[in-house]
Amino acid sequence: MKLKYYEIDEERLLEEAKGKKIAIKLPEGFIPYATKILDFLEENGIKAFLLAESCYGACDFVSYKEIEKIICIGEAEMPYLRKKYEPEVAFIEARYDFDVSFLNKAFKFLGKKVGLVSITPYMHKLKECKEYLEKNGYEVFIGKKSRRTAYDGQILGCDFSSAISISNYIDTFLFIGDGFFHPVGLYLASKKNVVVANPIEKRIYAEEIKKEADKILKKRYAMIAKAMDAEKFGIIVSRKLGQKRMELARRLKKLIDEKGKKAYLIILNDIDEKIDYMEFDCYISTACPRVAIDDMDKYEKPILTPIELEILLNERKWENYEFDQIL
Ligand code: SF4
Repeated sequence: MKLKYYEIDEERLLEEAKGKKIAIKLPEGFIPYATKILDFLEENGIKAFLLAESCYGACDFVSYKEIEKIICIGEAEMPYLRKKYEPEVAFIEARYDFDVSFLNKAFKFLGKKVGLVSITPYMHKLKECKEYLEKNGYEVFIGKKSRRTAYDGQILGCDFSSAISISNYIDTFLFIGDGFFHPVGLYLASKKNVVVANPIEKRIYAEEIKKEADKILKKRYAMIAKAMDAEKFGIIVSRKLGQKRMELARRLKKLIDEKGKKAYLIILNDIDEKIDYMEFDCYISTACPRVAIDDMDKYEKPILTPIELEILLNERKWENYEFDQIL
């Protein structure tokens, strides 16, 4: 079945959906295709709910008593959560097929030693990309997967560990995928050149990553400055399985309290406009690291990552700024 540019495996979908009270869960980009999937299931004798809550990744699950199984379409699983999902979750990845020869457009931007990284829809092509680069004289490295990633070479917006593990051996990272969030995060985490090969556009982005990173850094610096006079901090903890960092939240509360300011722990799964009318001067998000970065322009009050809080409280130097990661 085709969803936007991506293919999903219909047979596996039917196999996973058999004989259970199921719900399907889709990332935002696939929500317009929800009825196509529900109709397909119904034509095959399967009635399913649509779980229309947020779906930002395999991390984004809380427990549901009303259903027996969730089928998450589009994402790859987070292996360390396999036994923790309640109810069980089956992941049916969306895949985008492409001809790897467009990577020749990236050659002029690459050093001889290349670290290959990617995200779910393109992971199945990584081996072919590696062979293509090797055939063209490059030495190619792919880092081992982490407990949060399903594949060697896969990175998440909150986990660059497979890339960092090979960082010392390579000249350039080549990111196969779309969007700038992952490559910019990787650039900030590794301080290495990151080139993007976007298989959908068949386009290469090289200079743009550093520029984008500089833009984000400037905004983050301004966000920290905005929080400088904050006295009352709200530390946001998510109940989502792969985003819950209670220990970190407690550590941050202690740190803030020791600095003579006040910190409060808040349980909040999805950050929304209520943060502007709650009585805190500044928020620290221990949930998905993307929230503070992606949504920063939506709210009046500053939202910082744990690393930015350390900078605010003089526990870390600005020169050592990093993207927050959940490892
Ligand atoms: S970046 Fe955020 S949404 Fe993506 S896997 Fe990490 S915590 Fe989940």
